[in-house]
Amino acid sequence: MQDFDYCRPASVAEVLTLLRDGVDSKLLAGGQSLLASMKLGLMAPARLIALDRIPALRNSCEEQGQLRLGAMQTHGELAAGPALQAWVPGLAQMASHIADAQVRAMGTVGGSLANADPAACWPAGVLALGATLITDRREIAADDFFTGLFGTALEPDELLCGLRLRRPRRMAYLKFEQPASRFALVGVAVAQFDDDGVRVALTGTSQGAVRLPAFEQALTRHFDPVALQGLRVDEDLMSADLHAGADYRAHLAAVLAGRVVQQALEASK
Ligand SMILES: Cc1cc2nc3c(=O)[nH]c(=O)nc-3n(C[C@H](O)[C@H](O)[C@H](O)COP(=O)(O)OP(=O)(O)OC[C@H]3O[C@@H](n4cnc5c(N)ncnc54)[C@H](O)[C@@H]3O)c2cc1C
Repeated sequence: MQDFDYCRPASVAEVLTLLRDGVDSKLLAGGQSLLASMKLGLMAPARLIALDRIPALRNSCEEQGQLRLGAMQTHGELAAGPALQAWVPGLAQMASHIADAQVRAMGTVGGSLANADPAACWPAGVLALGATLITDRREIAADDFFTGLFGTALEPDELLCGLRLRRPRRMAYLKFEQPASRFALVGVAVAQFDDDGVRVALTGTSQGAVRLPAFEQALTRHFDPVALQGLRVDEDLMSADLHAGADYRAHLAAVLAGRVVQQALEASK
């Protein structure tokens, strides 16, 4: 790994000043993706700006009738904390199944969303929930945040501060794990709202997390796995690698969609 400078600002304002001073910098959250990329030589920033000293990025609270999460909250903290468990238990459960205890202790929700790995769980969860992502300068609907493979709407000097979640009637997430990493080979998140129908989001595609409109329409009419019978996921949408081909992933996605609806129904009994 190449040498780099390291700094730990104590406020969002200090982060923004550093991001704009012309030094080639990367924000460091839990480091679970970024440090691995640097060790592999895929990235070589001149400076890392650590976000772990900024209290404003670490809180959950109720805001505008929604639950706000801080970007620097870890998967483990969110999985075990009462706030998310009470608001969207299905999302807390999703966080509790990310990777292993060590990754969950370090990896953050903000890092996962900003990284937008096509096999990650959080992007599908927040897309299904129609979350609002909050940056230092604006709010971005989840529908507009993910822009493709490892792509987001964030500007290079923009800090993701947190996100807000509406309370769904039901929400669940189910993934088929790649056994070595526990990343999702395919993952499906479903959320049903009292006033806004059903949203379904898929991870494991070649374009990052995406919604499945035909599945959403069917489930808005009838929230039951039988409503999905005959629906297929387009295999052109899916990733393909040595772990699984696109046809297998597409089939798996449709199977998981039915199962995750059943899971959501059972969890709300
Ligand atoms: C072995 C292994 C297994 C994993 N399994 C899963 C899994 O099953 N499911 C899953 O969802 N994830 C999984 N992950 C990913 C992991 O959960 C981390 O969340 C993810 O790697 C990134 O989070 P981080 O906090 O470590 O971010 P970092 O690695 O520190 O940063 C990632 C990127 O986001 C940028 N960034 C970070 N924070 C911000 C911010 N606040 N604003 C703007 N940009 C920011 C960084 O500059 C960097 O480009 C796995 C990782 C590993 C190593």
